[in-house]
Amino acid sequence: MIDRLIKFLTHAPVNFLAVDEVCRTLEDAGYTCIDPTLPLQGLQAGSKVYVTKNDSSVYAFRLGQKPIGEAGFRIICAHCDSPTFRIKPRAEMNEEGGLVRLNTEVYGGPILSTWFDRPLSVAGRVILRGKDALHPVTRLMHVKRPILQIANLAIHFNRQVNDGVALSRQKDVLPLLGIINEKLERGHLLEGLICSELNVKAEDILDFDLYLYDVTPPCTVGLHDEFISSGRLDDLSMVHAGLEALLQTDDTPTDHTSVLAVFDNEETGSQTKQGAGSPFLSQMIKRIVRATGGNEEDFLCAVERAFMVSADNAHAWHPNYKEKYDPTNHPQLGGGPVIKFNAAQKYASDAASAAVFAEVCQQAGVPCQRFVNHSDVAGGSTLGNILASSLPMRGVDMGNPILAMHSARELGAVADHAYCIRAFRQFYEC
Ligand code: ZN
Repeated sequence: MIDRLIKFLTHAPVNFLAVDEVCRTLEDAGYTCIDPTLPLQGLQAGSKVYVTKNDSSVYAFRLGQKPIGEAGFRIICAHCDSPTFRIKPRAEMNEEGGLVRLNTEVYGGPILSTWFDRPLSVAGRVILRGKDALHPVTRLMHVKRPILQIANLAIHFNRQVNDGVALSRQKDVLPLLGIINEKLERGHLLEGLICSELNVKAEDILDFDLYLYDVTPPCTVGLHDEFISSGRLDDLSMVHAGLEALLQTDDTPTDHTSVLAVFDNEETGSQTKQGAGSPFLSQMIKRIVRATGGNEEDFLCAVERAFMVSADNAHAWHPNYKEKYDPTNHPQLGGGPVIKFNAAQKYASDAASAAVFAEVCQQAGVPCQRFVNHSDVAGGSTLGNILASSLPMRGVDMGNPILAMHSARELGAVADHAYCIRAFRQFYEC
């Protein structure tokens, strides 16, 4: 199980590749791709379909034995984007001595210092000239060898470095790409890389969404391999758990429809067409209701009967920083999935929805923990409430506990991943 997670994390250095990996796994399991530009038809009880948006979000549906309006749907949602750096247009910066840096922009909220002094590479999508202006061709790109590094300033030039350092996002975190020599064409290094990686001509490259990622492979850590160490555990570990649970329950017919939603752009607020703030999922469910003979009223009944598990990693208790945690609710690594509460309702959980998820865990034989912020700490937000604004359904915000959230290298517990898959299976099946 943990090997499959490690494989998934390795194949998913950025959002686009994560979605591609989810789609491939769904295809292998017999799910067929819906083309949202065509009227939806041919759906029946037990149909397994999926649809993507912007190549960076994906939604899988396994239709129940009963119409959605009658039996509702159960949805697990997670997000595929993680904090990183986006390569800016005209990114190459040529310096004295032939050094070339790449100009980048911070995506989301990374712990910047964790990106220093580690081999990095590039992944994302490249847009190529198509048959007409409105239909360019998208190609995914995953450079697997290390080609970049963000170098620290030597301690001899900054003796205060271990007392905490303010980092400029424009000055301090630009990665080195190479040293110009007679073979390297100034100003066209990135273009050359794209051409050789994708085997395309420079004049066909129209634009790109390319991001940095840490090439060091994920691994287990600990005397008994009890930890998992990787970038992007937030939130690809939850994407993976949801996908595993959906496919592992494929042979169990249920009355309700099962849904897995993998959104993009959670780290920047979800307000994009492929984010949890988009009406796209709500519209797709409406279209599925209609395609199976239902109407608007059936859709509204389906939403009222639905239940959402919004799965996004939670903060595990850190023994070095006890003072940051709530005195009575601090989830432990390895202690099982965590239900998140917030009095200001930054999380969708309330007593009624938390009770449902806790009961599901109980039925699955999985321990379950609860998280609230230390009252003097602001904390974060996630998908649940944002999705509830277009699909006002009951639901809970939960996630597996991890340390070092938004570090280039986060730390989770192997046992929690197994627990989470079991709990999600029970949720889809019960
Ligand atoms: Zn997250």
